[in-house]
Amino acid sequence: MTELSQNYQNLKNALKACSQQSVHAVNLLAVSKTQDLKRVSECAALGQTAFGENYVQEAVIKIQALQNLTLQWHLIGPLQSNKCKIVAEHFDWVQTVDRPKIIDGLDQYRPHNLHPLNVLIQVNIDNEPGKSGCSVDQITALAEQIMQKPRLRLRGLMAIPNPDASANGVAFSRMQEIFTELRSRYTGIDTLSMGMSDDYPIAIAHGANLIRIGTALFGPRKHQ
Ligand SMILES: *Cc1c(COP(=O)(O)O)cnc(C)c1O
Repeated sequence: MTELSQNYQNLKNALKACSQQSVHAVNLLAVSKTQDLKRVSECAALGQTAFGENYVQEAVIKIQALQNLTLQWHLIGPLQSNKCKIVAEHFDWVQTVDRPKIIDGLDQYRPHNLHPLNVLIQVNIDNEPGKSGCSVDQITALAEQIMQKPRLRLRGLMAIPNPDASANGVAFSRMQEIFTELRSRYTGIDTLSMGMSDDYPIAIAHGANLIRIGTALFGPRKHQ
């Protein structure tokens, strides 16, 4: 067994245990930033289909090279508005939607031969200065704007809580409340993306159903 397949099995087992305790299914997003094509293909061969990337150029190379594997690609890094076109043309999901200009750009450039782009609103839940994500009081306006866009499909929320706050679950718990509220207001809201290698069990306990895992799957990143 390779280290990757061992990690994958361990993670799958841990996820199963967490999701049984919390009584909801949890999906795994494999965060493949800095991993080369070979590592991504190895992971895909284990049965993983959803991959998360932070850097647009790096991602597009992988998406194109691995086209025949029919993987699902999520952008989880900050999005500059001048990258909306290339992102809308290549990704299946964008988890980092946090301002009106990005919504307009993604909708404008999503090609008509592809399904509407799945989007999550990223929330800066701990109001950390300099961090991507909208504030809690901006969520409603952004959700309304996305709902008007034919080429976008709002699926839910994403957050990267401050590690100190996540230790006691406060940020995760607030996200869960906000997500429940959003879901009661619109149809089609089904995804709460939070939890990474160090904090996914507590995120799942607070309703996360998509966790983003890099290190616990691929091992420590060598660069970036
Ligand atoms: C890198 C990254 C992850 C994965 O982090 P690990 O701690 O390696 O699991 C998850 N989410 C985002 C937004 C990231 O940038």
